[in-house]
Parts: sequence; structure tokens; C-alpha cells
Amino acid sequence: MGGSGEVGATWAVVAAAGTGERLGIDRPKAFAALGGRPLLAESLDRLDRCELIDAIVVAAPPEWEEPSILLAEELAASKVVACVTGGAKRAQSVAAALAEVPEEALVVLVHDAARPLVDDAMVQRLLALLGEGYDGAVPVLPVADTLKRVRDGVVVETVDREDLVAAQTPQAFLAPALRRAFAGDLTGATDCASLVERAGGRVAVVAGDPRLLKVTTPADLALVESWL
Ligand code: C5P
Repeated sequence: MGGSGEVGATWAVVAAAGTGERLGIDRPKAFAALGGRPLLAESLDRLDRCELIDAIVVAAPPEWEEPSILLAEELAASKVVACVTGGAKRAQSVAAALAEVPEEALVVLVHDAARPLVDDAMVQRLLALLGEGYDGAVPVLPVADTLKRVRDGVVVETVDREDLVAAQTPQAFLAPALRRAFAGDLTGATDCASLVERAGGRVAVVAGDPRLLKVTTPADLALVESWL
């Protein structure tokens, strides 16, 4: 692990503590095999090589902290300065990692290890929006299917999808805005932007990338592998 002593401006938090039960493997999702190495390796490697990122904190699955640190060492991912134990929910994992981000940090980029194909261009687009006065920036994709609200197996409403989008990661935030958001109630938050929105922050969007697909099932893993 790195840690030159100098605090950089832009920190990345990698949320990797999910169990990934739907993958049906004997290990957490972050350690599922993707192209011959753990899934987590792909985003760690990419973020470590991204010139816009100064330091990285990983939220690892409980009991997988050591393998996560070893992985960072194997990858020579010297920007990985801390590896914390994740929590029961994603927001708690991010909160634990955020606690390792120094006060001096200006920007925090939060990314799901489950979306391995993060690239520099996306990071650059998100950070550019923070420079334009937004508290946060997230990639979004249009929703293709018709959306319905269902209760007890019966459709109660068809939701107008006109202004609905699906949010991805990485999500970039001004560090103070993210900290404020995480000081509040974390219940029900499936992404960080929702907490920043709830705290009154302004979150802008950029065009998402279908290749930032979140690996959930074995079929997703095979698809992402074919894109490597
Ligand atoms: O479970 P899901 O795939 O939606 O999780 C999204 C991301 O959040 C994954 O990268 C997963 O590792 C991470 N996560 C986490 N801590 C949890 C649950 C999920 O870091 N308790």
C-alpha cells in the first residue's frame, strides 16, 4: 500500500463489501473471477492508473480485508492507502471508507467494485461538472422498459418513464457535501447521490455507459468478461 504522507485532492472510495449472493459462488462478489483475476482488481487497477485520482480507500467484505490489501499490492496499486471493513449495507460500507478520507480532500469519487469497466473519460466528465458548481455528478442511462408499480402481484400504476433514469457509478462529489450527506440517516440509500440529494445538494448527470453494467448474475459476469 502507498501513503506518501501527502494528501491529494481527489479520493476514490471503492465499495466492494457486498456478498453477491446472486452470483452463487463461494466467495464475495468482489472476488469472483473476471478474466483470470478478482473482479475488484479491474476497478482498482483502472482507478489507480487514472491520473485524476490521488488516493483510494477500499471497503472490503468482512474477513476479506487481508486478501484485498494483498490484491492491491500484487497490482502495485500504490494509491490504495486504506482498506476498511464494509458494513451490512452499501451506505455503511461507504461511510466506513469515507472515515479514512482526510479532511483536506476536496473531491470523493465513489465507485462500485461490481462495475469493473470504469474509465478515465467518465471520471473526467464527472469531475468537470463539480468544477461547474454542482455538489455531485452521476452517470445515468435512460430506462428502456415500461415501469410498473406492483403490490401483491397486481399492477397498481404504470409510472411515466419520461424523466426517469437509471443511476450508475462512479459518482463524484465535493467532499464536504458528501460528508454532510453521510452525517444524516443512511436508511434506504442504494447510492450516494440519493443521500446528497436528501441533504439538499445539487446533483448533475452525465450520459452513462452501458459497459458500466453492475455485475449481479453469472450472465452479467460473462458479458463484462466479453467486453474486457
Ligand atoms: O449488492 P450490489 O451489487 O447492489 O452492491 C453494489 C456495490 O456496493 C458492490 O460493489 C458491492 O460490493 C458494494 N456493497 C458494499 N457493502 C455492502 C453491500 C454492497 O460495499 N454491504
